[in-house]
Amino acid sequence: MINTVDKTIVNKTIVNKTPLRRLFFALALPNAVQQNIVQWRTDHFPPEAGHLIAAANLHLTLAFLGEVSSAKAQVLQQQAGRISQSGFNVTLDDIGHWPGSGVIWLGCKNPPRGLLQLAQLLRSQAARRGCYQTSLPFHPHVTLLRGAMRPVALPAKTNNQHFRAEHFSLYESVFARGRTRYNIIQSWPLAGSERTSDAI
Ligand code: ATP
Ligand code: MG
Repeated sequence: MINTVDKTIVNKTIVNKTPLRRLFFALALPNAVQQNIVQWRTDHFPPEAGHLIAAANLHLTLAFLGEVSSAKAQVLQQQAGRISQSGFNVTLDDIGHWPGSGVIWLGCKNPPRGLLQLAQLLRSQAARRGCYQTSLPFHPHVTLLRGAMRPVALPAKTNNQHFRAEHFSLYESVFARGRTRYNIIQSWPLAGSERTSDAI
């Protein structure tokens, strides 16, 4: 028979062995849009404005999940797979600076309803599974620069990059050798779109 102390140790061991992954749902940006944004950013921001986000890392987060066990991730993936929503067009026609977090971003003056609905659904599914969701309103954006703590002269206009969201994806965020990389774990099509990728 295991006494209380031993049980605690057994449970702790099991918990510690569960690998946690840092996950989030996001919309990918097409390669051409990523490249156009980076070119435009080079033309409009001085190098000292902040830390530049690499082209391949430009994305639009829908729901941040935090550090998640594989069991919880599986449930969230199943729930995401049941979402049935149409694709929508995203136009990045807004720009802003959050000096508190040092983020300069591109966003949408009028975010499409489908984008807000999808994020709302993923965020409430995540919250129901215990993934803490901030009480701040969802503000869809693509982070362009980080570490921008000083006032910056923002360009008056963006270059209005636009794309059609035909799928959404679950990403893993991996920090290694001083940089952050995102790996797609699974993607789901938005209705009216071809299936683009499956679980890996
Ligand atoms: P860094 O390694 O510098 O933190 P990052 O912020 O891009 O890079 P993550 O912190 O793993 O990487 O975040 C992944 C995505 O989730 C990013 O789009 C980030 O803005 C968003 N995110 C991170 N933390 C939160 C949070 N607490 N609430 C909402 N979104 C978040
Ligand atoms: Mg971060």
